[in-house]
Amino acid sequence: MTGRLSGKRTIVTGAGSGIGQAAARLFAAEGAHVMCADINGDAAAATATDIGERAISLAVDVSRPADCQAMVDQTVSAFGGLDAVYANAGVDGPGRAGDLDIDEWNRVIGVNLTGVWLSVRYAIDHLIAAGGGSLVLQASVGGVIGVPGIASYAAAKAGVIGLTRQMAVDYGPDGIRVNAICPGTVPTPLVRATYEKRGGFSATANAPADATVDELIDAAKVRHPIGRLGTTTDIAQLALHLASDESSWTTGTAIVIDGGMSAA
Ligand code: NAD
Repeated sequence: MTGRLSGKRTIVTGAGSGIGQAAARLFAAEGAHVMCADINGDAAAATATDIGERAISLAVDVSRPADCQAMVDQTVSAFGGLDAVYANAGVDGPGRAGDLDIDEWNRVIGVNLTGVWLSVRYAIDHLIAAGGGSLVLQASVGGVIGVPGIASYAAAKAGVIGLTRQMAVDYGPDGIRVNAICPGTVPTPLVRATYEKRGGFSATANAPADATVDELIDAAKVRHPIGRLGTTTDIAQLALHLASDESSWTTGTAIVIDGGMSAA
């Protein structure tokens, strides 16, 4: 590795699994100090232990303001400041608009939109004090184009893209860059849960009713012109670029990384 985040003090939410776990490992391998935060405290701790001395962990529910405040406070206390946050934690959100009740809607919006805002909310003053920094917000290709059967999820992710633009405008003068990542399909536990409940591409008429989750995930490949689904490392590499100074003139944008899915 080449130290692309050398000395940077970072937070990764959802670091206990999938994309967040890959990003926490990659950030640390590139020289960063990493707060591994996850609602599953044991999984966050396992990621931090795996990384070693430059990582700490905390059980954090990103939908709770007090948890997010504590996450930032403990990071600043342990590392002496804060330079970048990857607000990545999220939950699956299967169902069409007419299938959802208010509790299910609020569950998804609470984590995938409100939780992204709260994950960066308490970092802003510290980034300003540090002379600037980078906020990377996890959206989805589902926030850019219509994907079947994920109404609350798509609404939350489109909201994240709006928040990204807004914060980039408001905090650009403070040296804070804000960008969103919009991945296509990466077969993580979140995607498996979505397909299990017949959301996403498995909501389309041409998905056989008796297909297994593995078969549905395999069938999703055809939606991605590059011929394969994404890996957690594919997405973590983009998060690394956006968190690092090499993207110093990139702000207010939502970058699609989807193997060509949205171009097809
Ligand atoms: P994942 O299920 O592997 O990881 C999600 C992590 O978030 C888990 O460790 C989970 O415990 C944690 N989490 C859930 N709710 C939380 C909360 N309230 N507070 C803190 N942590 C919480 O899924 P993933 O695919 O790696 O998802 C990461 C992000 O990427 C999500 O925001 C997801 O919407 C987004 N995304 C994923 C895909 C994909 O295809 N996998 C595509 C587009 C966007």
